[in-house]
Amino acid sequence: MSLKLIFLGPPGAGKGTQADIISRKVSIPRIAPGDLFRKAVAEHTELGKLVQSYIDSGKLVPDEITINLMRDKLSSPEAKRGFILDGFPRNLVQAEALDRLLKELGIKLDAAIYIGVPFDRLVERSAGRRVCKQCGAAYHVKFKPPRVANVCDLCGGELYQRDDDRPETVRRRLEVYEENTRPLVDYYSRQGLLKRIDGDQPVDKVFSDIQEALGLNNNDQH
Ligand code: ADP
Ligand code: ADP
Ligand code: ZN
Repeated sequence: MSLKLIFLGPPGAGKGTQADIISRKVSIPRIAPGDLFRKAVAEHTELGKLVQSYIDSGKLVPDEITINLMRDKLSSPEAKRGFILDGFPRNLVQAEALDRLLKELGIKLDAAIYIGVPFDRLVERSAGRRVCKQCGAAYHVKFKPPRVANVCDLCGGELYQRDDDRPETVRRRLEVYEENTRPLVDYYSRQGLLKRIDGDQPVDKVFSDIQEALGLNNNDQH
């Protein structure tokens, strides 16, 4: 199945969690600039050096860097069969750049999935988030603990806490979201692509709501 999706929503809404489930289910890549930036920082690459200070302070990485990275990913052979953009675009300049790029590549988006979660829940979600060093899978100390403490269920990698998940930085990221990213809800609504999903529900229920919104066949799960 070929699905071309973008995931919108505030930090901690559950985009990565849901995008990961769908990407495994329909075998399409999940393309997440945040993951790619963190990997670059951990590996001390040139890209990592460029982006580290923005990530640490909870600001957006400059558009030019982000758009170039996404152009590479979207033009790659793996993205031919479909993709989930998790965390891109994050402002209007990026959304317009994405529209141009998709036009160039002859690709049409199927939907923009907006995962809404009330503000006060988001700090709690980010504060308890633990991430796999190896595969990037997200866990939560309370809501989604791994089977073995600090070990990824999927790949056995070690879990760690993101530096930018400290409450002060999360609050800064939420402000950045309100100012820059929220306007994209309207942008995709006007394009007729927006699907609003209530993210303040258990992971499985959020997932079944997304499936329903996309018209995916529920029987595939079993
Ligand atoms: P979350 O999933 O909690 O929203 P991400 O992993 O998507 O966090 O993003 C972490 C950080 O990576 C952001 O705070 C920002 O610094 C950077 N980043 C991620 N996506 C983008 C983007 N589209 N444009 C600019 N910066 C980004
Ligand atoms: P995002 O990519 O939008 O920043 P994540 O998918 O990383 O969000 O989820 C943020 C945190 O909340 C993680 O610790 C994750 O395990 C947890 N989480 C995700 N979805 C839910 C949910 N529906 N209910 C409770 N916790 C959730
Ligand atoms: Zn893992």
